[in-house]
Amino acid sequence: MGDCSRCREAPSYYTRRYSGESLCASCFQETTVEKVRRTISKYGMLRRGERVGVAVSGGKDSLSLLKILHELNSGLGHGGRSELVALTVDEGVKGYRDEAIEHAHALCSELGVELVLVSYSELFGFSLDQALDWKDEREVSSCSMCGVFRRRAIDEAAVKAKVDVVATAHNLDDYVQTFMMNLLHGDVERLGWLDPSTYDDAFPVRRVKPLTEVYEEEVALYAYLSKIPFQSASCPYMHEALRSEVRDYLNELESSHPGMKNVLLASALDVTSRLSKEARGGGQAGAKATVPCAKCGKPSSKGVCGVCRMTEMVWQHTKYTGK
Ligand code: SF4
Ligand code: ZN
Repeated sequence: MGDCSRCREAPSYYTRRYSGESLCASCFQETTVEKVRRTISKYGMLRRGERVGVAVSGGKDSLSLLKILHELNSGLGHGGRSELVALTVDEGVKGYRDEAIEHAHALCSELGVELVLVSYSELFGFSLDQALDWKDEREVSSCSMCGVFRRRAIDEAAVKAKVDVVATAHNLDDYVQTFMMNLLHGDVERLGWLDPSTYDDAFPVRRVKPLTEVYEEEVALYAYLSKIPFQSASCPYMHEALRSEVRDYLNELESSHPGMKNVLLASALDVTSRLSKEARGGGQAGAKATVPCAKCGKPSSKGVCGVCRMTEMVWQHTKYTGK
């Protein structure tokens, strides 16, 4: 007899302080996969038979997501299966990205999942190292620049891989941090874009976040218990001071009041859903209205899209013109 509060057979390994469950390793893994299955069905994220692109960076979150979706898929009978494809972006960061891409390749070949790779160099004419190769006062942070290119790169990979939907590995912590960040930036309109049940027509392919209800700590533990090798070093350009403070603050809150992050998630989901309903009631097609970019024709929130604006900025400040 063990003291796992679910199977009662194995010794408990991890305690979910917010629910009081003490679980053995395999019950922890099973309940994590089950939680993701419930999130997917609650928000109608994936439909049977779809070709699902999983954005895989090679970090713990994205590799866990791939493994969990693969597991959920194997549990389905024939006919109900989705087809998984990993979408990987090589931003071009020397000495950092290569290892992550190796991990992505390794898990994909173990699971028999196709991997579609795109790179900043091939898409934009410069690597991230080259794009950031200017040290003057930049008005935008490395991550905001990179994020704009990344989203486009995932779109391009999704089109190349002919997928119906893209699943990204944002976990509960990412979701509540982003919610708080938007509040702190006074950006109320963006809050509505976080509604998981609406389709954002700024992207050519629907995007879903199946790990929205899983704590980051539990995603990391899932990766560890599933023996998934992942890259733990963080990107050398990562510098998001405010986000780090928000992360620390939320972790402190959670440690003195277990379950606080879950409560915050529930409130955030309620607020985002009301805001996005209101926006749609106002005649907008999706959570976010778009127009074609005047330069490249891709969907944009204003005249010229972020990618074209950032590309122009890189051309002005570096010798990499992509030509
Ligand atoms: Fe890009 Fe920032 Fe991620 Fe590095 S940490 S890959 S700069 S978004
Ligand atoms: Zn454009």
